Amino acid sequence: MHLFCTLTALLCLLPLLVLCAEDYYKLLGISKDAGDRQIKKAYRTLSKKYHPDKNPDDETAHQKFVEIAEAYDVLSDPEVRKIYDQYGHEGVKQHQQGGQRGGHHGHDPFDLFSRFFGGGGHFGRGQRKGQNMELRINVSLKDFYMGATHEFKVEKQQICEACEGSGSEDGQRDTCGKCHGQGMVIQKHMLAPGIFQQMQMQCDMCGGRGSTVKHKCKVCGGQRVKRAEESFELHVEKGMPKGARVTYENEGDESPDWEAGDLVVHIFEKDPELGKEDKDRTDGTFFRRKDQNLFWREVLSLREAWMGGWTRNLTHLDGHIVQLSRPRGSVVQPGTVEIVADEGMPVWRHDTDSGAPEYGALHVEYVVVLPDAMEKKMEGEFWEVWEKWRRKNGVDLLADSGRPIPGPPGKGHDEL
Ligand SMILES: [Zn+2]
Ligand SMILES: [Zn+2]
Repeated sequence: MHLFCTLTALLCLLPLLVLCAEDYYKLLGISKDAGDRQIKKAYRTLSKKYHPDKNPDDETAHQKFVEIAEAYDVLSDPEVRKIYDQYGHEGVKQHQQGGQRGGHHGHDPFDLFSRFFGGGGHFGRGQRKGQNMELRINVSLKDFYMGATHEFKVEKQQICEACEGSGSEDGQRDTCGKCHGQGMVIQKHMLAPGIFQQMQMQCDMCGGRGSTVKHKCKVCGGQRVKRAEESFELHVEKGMPKGARVTYENEGDESPDWEAGDLVVHIFEKDPELGKEDKDRTDGTFFRRKDQNLFWREVLSLREAWMGGWTRNLTHLDGHIVQLSRPRGSVVQPGTVEIVADEGMPVWRHDTDSGAPEYGALHVEYVVVLPDAMEKKMEGEFWEVWEKWRRKNGVDLLADSGRPIPGPPGKGHDEL
């Protein structure tokens, strides 16, 4: 009786479990309209991440590895994918039980893995990894300040999709008749009459692969790979340092014979260029960056530097205004550097959720420009003023220079 109850309970639970199975698209992290390449790519990345060899004793990862293979199996077959889109997991199950394409489904996840990566479905055993591809991309200072996303294209070697890297139109590869699958042949060279040298050479019939193809794939001509452009998205994060590296795992040149290397993008800053629109011509465009700080040179006239009473509105990289000003009577010495806190670069953090961003400082250096020509009358009036105050204060240039004074100390007024 007890057993019966348990059984009934289990049977009731079963449909629930089916409903709970995770969405295949979600599982692979792709959208519903993802193309064949995206599906393959997602599988390639995730299957490696969750492979039991990489996660020993982790049952969850193992489960995930199996589910990912299942999701790939369904979504990579256009017919089954259609059924899945319409009827979900249950529909696929019925279709598979119907056995319309007997034996096609229910793959061992390790078989699938080895189809992609070779090596009998496992890591290690000296699986070769291809070379990394390095790329340099220059972005504007504004992108470093605000963050940005750019699309870029890379031409690379890709595994032929039509034949899944077999080079064969029907997927059939035959053991090479010349080397009998060894990939190597022994060749005899006659060095002198009757004297032979034996050399092991790569089999020229199969190119060392050990197998040949009768019907070559029409897309790649039996090469198993083709060259094609692929688009990537580059996310420039706020405050990323110059020369930051962004790695796209296994996005280097592909080959059925090795695991693809990584695509590594180095992000550098490009020189400011005069944009066509006003918004690209802000002061901020010409800020100079050093780590977290920004640098700017502001020019003051003699009158401003000396008399004060001025205001400057600097337009920052994102368009906000940084106001610099001095009240009347406030002197700015040439070469003075004013440090404006929190107006530098955002401090780069990987976890963007951890509170408000911090910023470096903006360093403003003041340059004072003297007029090199004056109206005659103006010149005369100024001269009068200088003379008047010089006589009144009895300024002693030498005493005010700060050097050792040979005579009695001066009164300490500025030379005007
Ligand atoms: Zn051969
Ligand atoms: Zn092909």
